[in-house]
Amino acid sequence: MIDLHSHTDQSDGTFTPAELVLEAKRAGLTALAITDHDTFAGYDAAVPCAARAGVNLICGIELSTRYQGTSVHLLGYFPVTPPSDEIRTWLKWVLEMRRERNVRLIAKLQSLGVDITLAEVEKIGRTLTGRPHFAQVLVAKGYATDLQNAFDQYLDESAKGFVHRQEVPMDEAIERILRSGGVPSLAHPVRVAKNNWEKLAGYVEDLAGLGMRAIEVYHSDHSPENVAYYASLAERFRLGMTGGSDFHGANKPLISLGTGKHNNLHVPDALAEKLRLLAPEA
Ligand code: AMP
Ligand code: FE
Ligand code: FE
Ligand code: ZN
Repeated sequence: MIDLHSHTDQSDGTFTPAELVLEAKRAGLTALAITDHDTFAGYDAAVPCAARAGVNLICGIELSTRYQGTSVHLLGYFPVTPPSDEIRTWLKWVLEMRRERNVRLIAKLQSLGVDITLAEVEKIGRTLTGRPHFAQVLVAKGYATDLQNAFDQYLDESAKGFVHRQEVPMDEAIERILRSGGVPSLAHPVRVAKNNWEKLAGYVEDLAGLGMRAIEVYHSDHSPENVAYYASLAERFRLGMTGGSDFHGANKPLISLGTGKHNNLHVPDALAEKLRLLAPEA
């Protein structure tokens, strides 16, 4: 069993990097990719733990990009060489844009009558403070009944508290991942093009033309029909396949590492080895 999509408490998961590695070991994973949003801090911290535990740890990242007027998540994998200094430096700018969004999000929530400060939210976030940390504070202070309710009421793109964040254009994100030795993979395509399958096929063709090398076929939110269709898109556009649970610990309590929601995830072991073959030549 392998899992190529997971988050630590260095982004918006709740497990420390060491706890995540131990959970991978307990679940019997032979390979684990840490794909935190916008940071390698969780992966970096997990490297010695994984070596001790004998877990094959793969470096990854998840970026929020701008594509076709919406926000689309892009995974990047570095199975052969560690990510370049160039992309690490660039991520500092991404984190700055995120902090700038957080300042505006606090102001917006305050204008809606919510008693909340940036310091309170940043105390929960570590390397990075994201909307799930805002959701935790909203629940703790009684503004929402649970994390999902906090998103529905305040934080979701369609909710009253939402503020935009400056996101990297998709073509630039793909290029930056490739240039630093990584494999760009379209994350959870079920959330792209409002799951209009024909439209998605057009997007995937376009993205393949932009240099995208893989598509996340397996994911906790994918039905068997989704999986079959995304696998057919991979074949049609000559892309590799990736897959994982998108484990976030207590921030997404229904999802288990390796097995997804109620055992709905089965990522073929061979994908970890194939990922290496997708990496650009050094
Ligand atoms: P951020 O990167 O700070 O804008 O936060 C994005 C993260 O919030 C995503 O990766 C999800 O984990 C979570 N998220 C976004 N929208 C929702 C939603 N409608 N319901 C639950 N979680 C969400
Ligand atoms: Fe997340
Ligand atoms: Fe995502
Ligand atoms: Zn994710």
